[in-house]
Amino acid sequence: MHPELSVVIPVYNEEAGLAKLYARLYPALDKLAERGITYEIVFVNDGSRDRSAEILAEQFRARPDVTRVVLFNGNYGQHMAILAGFQATRGDIVVTLDADLQNPPEEIGALVDKMREGYDYVGSIRRKRQDAAWRTYLSKAMNRLREKITRIKITDQGNMLRAYGRNVINLINQCSEVNTFVPALAYTFARKPTEIVVEHEERTAGESKYSFYSLIRLNFDLMTGFSIMPLQLFSMMGMILSGLSGGLVVLLLIRRFFLGAEAEGLFTLFAIAFFLMGVILFGIGLLGEYVGRIYQQVQGRPRFVVQTILEEKSRE
Ligand code: UDP
Ligand code: MG
Repeated sequence: MHPELSVVIPVYNEEAGLAKLYARLYPALDKLAERGITYEIVFVNDGSRDRSAEILAEQFRARPDVTRVVLFNGNYGQHMAILAGFQATRGDIVVTLDADLQNPPEEIGALVDKMREGYDYVGSIRRKRQDAAWRTYLSKAMNRLREKITRIKITDQGNMLRAYGRNVINLINQCSEVNTFVPALAYTFARKPTEIVVEHEERTAGESKYSFYSLIRLNFDLMTGFSIMPLQLFSMMGMILSGLSGGLVVLLLIRRFFLGAEAEGLFTLFAIAFFLMGVILFGIGLLGEYVGRIYQQVQGRPRFVVQTILEEKSRE
């Protein structure tokens, strides 16, 4: 017996807001259950140093039929918590949600409805973002850059209210990478992704766990986790630079024979120096190509996914 819907919620130092979360989450899901959508909620405590773990345990005792709690022994970060939650899920549809009520639980129904239309990944776009202005601006800029570097199309990357199909979750559970960004990883495995618009609210209690620094880290993970383009950039630069400076050497040589040396050979020296720099850059880029291959191999993601094989049952 497994539920149709699993809801995964990472929790880190959220003691002030958990009661409010329960008060909205359970009624919202019970309403779905009336429509015949059975559910389970998987909380993952990411090594909170406050009373969050006890509050989660209390909730487990109150609603053991639909509540499961995974407890970490330390703080491994939001995305590791979500991955651990995924491994514990049994539902056909898995929805992730933040614990701070910035994602209204009432929207889960809309995600499920969209999934039932046959999609296996439903992202969400916040109608009106309730975050500091610098964060909104920064994440829009990073979105654009990321879409160029990787092939991942996520309109609103800083938003965790998303639904994933069982096929996507099973593939994610096979991955063993350490620094990852769950929505992007899921996107790479989705056959039929889509997005819907949802509400977004201010944090009800506690404060954001993301500093400016961890946001930068997150974006690096996103770029380098899904593309080795930053490494390959060097070989491109090196190739262009050595090409141009090679041209310069030839030009100076010709000039030298007709007009004599330029500023006592200073420019010739420049040309040689630039050429060498180009060669070095190209060398770094070449190394990057190999390191990139090693990196992709080490990630150990499934190399391809076979949807079905059409064949006749063998007759014996
Ligand atoms: N979170 C976590 N581990 C961490 C940081 C955050 O499990 O190391 C959880 C946190 O409890 C919340 C969600 O991840 O449920 C999003 O965190 P937060 O609201 O602080 O991020 P923001 O909304 O500011 O991006
Ligand atoms: Mg938040």
